[in-house]
Amino acid sequence: MQVISRGKMFGARLMAEGQLKWDDGYLTAMGMHAIMLPISAFISFQKILEDQSGKDAGGLQMYAQFKLVGREIANALIKVHRKHGSELLLCNWELASFAGFGKFVVMDVSMKKAYCLFKVQNSNIANSYGKSDRPSCHTMRGLAAGAAQIAFERDDIECIETTCKCMGYSDCCFKIQPRDLFIEGEKYDLIKKQIEE
Ligand SMILES: [Zn+2]
Repeated sequence: MQVISRGKMFGARLMAEGQLKWDDGYLTAMGMHAIMLPISAFISFQKILEDQSGKDAGGLQMYAQFKLVGREIANALIKVHRKHGSELLLCNWELASFAGFGKFVVMDVSMKKAYCLFKVQNSNIANSYGKSDRPSCHTMRGLAAGAAQIAFERDDIECIETTCKCMGYSDCCFKIQPRDLFIEGEKYDLIKKQIEE
């Protein structure tokens, strides 16, 4: 088990290495053009999609989009830190902790199995979303799935959220693994709502 909560140090290192740059009002982070926004911007957008398409379909749209963002960020991390596999994934959680996503606890990670089990304690995203009858941190699991696809060098990696603070649990728990293993798994009802068929 590894607790990742020292994002401030990761950010300090990025600044020291010139990987976080403010130039004439424009921010560049690890070569990516970036802006800082409150979480409500993402949650409002998620709720618009959920109202338009239904909760599960809206969640899937958020997941698909943030998977692409996760891939972009992981590719930037490779260029800057030259890490791969499980090391890259852990580096990604450090960056996420720096970015304000919260305190990550990685319970298990295996490059060989393309597998990772992690949780976010007192998730900022969940707190901002509010109460729900289903897991709602699609931004987080999309970013995680995209980063894991790059880290494990497989495009068939997915991430589902098994418990969410929005549902009343203390932690948001996530499982990353190849898509086929999810489909064969037991909690199919939960999974099929979070992965496109
Ligand atoms: Zn959650």
